[in-house]
Amino acid sequence: MGRSLRVIAIDGPAGSGKSTIAKALSQRLHLEHLDTGAMYRSVALICLQRGVDLVDVGAMAAVVESVDISLGTDLLGAQRVTVDGVDVTSEIRTPGVDVAVGAVASAAPVRAALVAQQRKWAVEHGGGVLEGRDIATVVFPDALVKVYLTATVAERARRRTEQLGGEVQAVAADIERRDHVDSTRTADPLQVADGASIVDTTGLSVNEVLDQIEKLVFAAEAATAVIAPQFPTPVLNRRERFVYRAVQVFVRTLLRTYVPTTYVGLENVPSTGPFILAPVHRSVIDFMIVGLVTKRRMRYVGKDSVWEAKWFVPMANTLGGIPVSRGTTDRDSMNRCVEALKSGEPLVLFPEGKRKSGPIVEDLFDGVAYIALKAGVPIIPVGIGGSDRVLPLGAKLPRRRRVLVKVGAPIELPPVGKSVRKVAPQLTSTLRDRIQGLYDEAQREFQR
Ligand code: C5P
Repeated sequence: MGRSLRVIAIDGPAGSGKSTIAKALSQRLHLEHLDTGAMYRSVALICLQRGVDLVDVGAMAAVVESVDISLGTDLLGAQRVTVDGVDVTSEIRTPGVDVAVGAVASAAPVRAALVAQQRKWAVEHGGGVLEGRDIATVVFPDALVKVYLTATVAERARRRTEQLGGEVQAVAADIERRDHVDSTRTADPLQVADGASIVDTTGLSVNEVLDQIEKLVFAAEAATAVIAPQFPTPVLNRRERFVYRAVQVFVRTLLRTYVPTTYVGLENVPSTGPFILAPVHRSVIDFMIVGLVTKRRMRYVGKDSVWEAKWFVPMANTLGGIPVSRGTTDRDSMNRCVEALKSGEPLVLFPEGKRKSGPIVEDLFDGVAYIALKAGVPIIPVGIGGSDRVLPLGAKLPRRRRVLVKVGAPIELPPVGKSVRKVAPQLTSTLRDRIQGLYDEAQREFQR
């Protein structure tokens, strides 16, 4: 499960730098971060508050079942821990909790309940960077990357005192005591997991440690990556080829006469394999204009009402239209698009959803990014300048206007594992920037 979820497991003793590294790594990799130590600390705090006897395993387990522990970050990115909605971020770091947590964490039923919550968290977040003592040994033994962070006791004590104050020797003694408790308990003791990489952080900067782990992540991803899917070569029957060509010739003639269109960057349109063509959308004629960037048949998405006119159905199908019904979920239409791409054909999707106006590209749907990631195909951004002047709102007849189409370089997909949900917004924002850039360039031509 951990492999398919893109889980990075970071285990190690107190003061080895887990929290700093896990948090920074999650930011680098655009993953969520879970500090499982904070969960054990929260349970210890509530046990202390309720006066639970720390040898009464059943009572401690009942505490876990009775509270809702939630971990998040505040606006400044600092960790916030709440129990039943009450902020306990600082209380869980007090010396009293430091002492109590070992007993709580040694109780097998407490561990079982928290491990279940941690797995659920990872499923809900599509993976994440999980730090603790047993992530790679128990919670996610098949994590994509397992790191065992460590450092000398002296170095760990020095870091702790820098962070929280105190006297180095006393802190070192406390660290040694906790190491002993954590590694000798019977329930899930702290140990180096099979296949874990030991990273000794003594004398290393945060960035040096992050670079090491990032290399491990990329290497693991490269090793487990599905070899780039081999897409079939779509074979159109004679009728489909003929009709599509005929329509293209017709549209080309029409545009030549009424909308002289210049295409720049056509070398960016792949001559084989599927892709998503993602143009800006300012006019009803945009779909005709972009249909000429390649001779290959590109698929379009159309409202299913188009298929209601019986006479038009054969034509719509032959042209490769993909019906999207209003009543069905987005997921259905997305799946149809993914299927079309996987069958090897390119697809035109307007990421703004519908026709918009004005010079700014905003509010893109994540759908295009989702579909590209699911199908594993590149996105080709396109800017169209001038099409809004051909048929402005309210005009009944088209006006003869020049149009400039700028086709951008393909946007490569980031490595995702299975965390499409995490990567899609970032890809959408890249797509928006690229379309805006091309649209700006195309519009500028008309201001000269
Ligand atoms: O990471 P931190 O030092 O905050 O963890 C507090 C304590 O919680 C540890 O000393 C350990 O006893 C316990 N713990 C655990 N398993 C985890 C995380 C923390 O037993 N996965």
